[in-house]
Amino acid sequence: MERVFNFSAGPSMLPVEVLEQVQTDLVNYPGAGCSVLEMSHRSPSYEQIIDEAQATLRRIMDISDDYAVLFLQGGASMQFSMVPMTLAGRDDTVDYSLTGQFSTKAYKEAGRWCNAVAVASSKEATYSYIPKITPDMLSKDAKYLHICGNNTIFGSCYNTLPDVGDTPLVCDLSSTILGKVFDVNKFDLIYAGAQKNMGPAGLTVVIMKKELLDNEVDPVVPTMLRYKDMAEADSMYNTPPTFAIYFAGEVYKWVEKQGGVAAIEKRNTEKANMLYNAIDNSGIFNNPVAVEDRSIMNVTFVTGNEELDDKFVKEASKVGLITLKGHRSAGGMRASIYNAMPIAGVEKLVAFMDEFEKKNS
Ligand code: PMP
Repeated sequence: MERVFNFSAGPSMLPVEVLEQVQTDLVNYPGAGCSVLEMSHRSPSYEQIIDEAQATLRRIMDISDDYAVLFLQGGASMQFSMVPMTLAGRDDTVDYSLTGQFSTKAYKEAGRWCNAVAVASSKEATYSYIPKITPDMLSKDAKYLHICGNNTIFGSCYNTLPDVGDTPLVCDLSSTILGKVFDVNKFDLIYAGAQKNMGPAGLTVVIMKKELLDNEVDPVVPTMLRYKDMAEADSMYNTPPTFAIYFAGEVYKWVEKQGGVAAIEKRNTEKANMLYNAIDNSGIFNNPVAVEDRSIMNVTFVTGNEELDDKFVKEASKVGLITLKGHRSAGGMRASIYNAMPIAGVEKLVAFMDEFEKKNS
């Protein structure tokens, strides 16, 4: 079977060049005499791998020395707890903007620990837009405002960051990190699961201001949930997800070879525009998201007829365009077009949509 164009929201397509490089090095990593899968995380070969991964990520995201970069486990979902438990005390207040399922989960987890306030929400409109936030909407003395930078399920995105005044900004960038250029200095803490733009599942990257590491943390918080302990051990307090970090490091090198994140963003914007144009010019497909809040990573569309949506997804998969079914909470279709989705994949999808419309309208 040929490789298909996989529009999965994550785990998702990975660059073929990276898969091939990893395949070449899999059994005997150069200079090591064994596979990365078999290597001690304390070995010189592995130390070089993790150090290089961090250095490359710092280069491609232009991360300054004021920020710590951590390679953690537990998925982005673990960050839903780790963020409030380390950045807030039990009596503190933390603010959340609810723009989809993941930011709502994050808000609920924070509420287990401290006083979590939903300062904005677009739930009433099925998360089809990004609510505007101004500093006066934030709680007095809020320890941070948490936003989800890109809503993987509903296909909306903070195309402009909210004005938070002096309140620290925490952002879940799981589905858009390395997909477009971000000024890291605008954030106090960024976290992202790797399984979309960075590599295999099992790795979560955290980029945080070093000064936050010195926060006083409640003694009840387990060591594995403390950023400071993870930072002091260079992400190797315990056995890290060694293979996932190695793989992500290869993806970071690939990003650099493509011309960096700016070049990738340009290509991603081209792909997204192609798809949104096809939707906007079609008589049967609609995108429910406010135009200014559209995501370039996850493009959602519906026909308004569930049977027709199902037919679309089934027929598309027969021609090698797979995993186009929308999330169960959103319905319709979703094309996740992360960094590794080639332009040819989007061209084929757009041609298929056109053909489908002609046969079904
Ligand atoms: N945040 C966002 C934006 C996501 O898309 C996802 C998962 N796809 C998560 C959080 C949860 O990530 P994980 O499964 O790694 O816990």
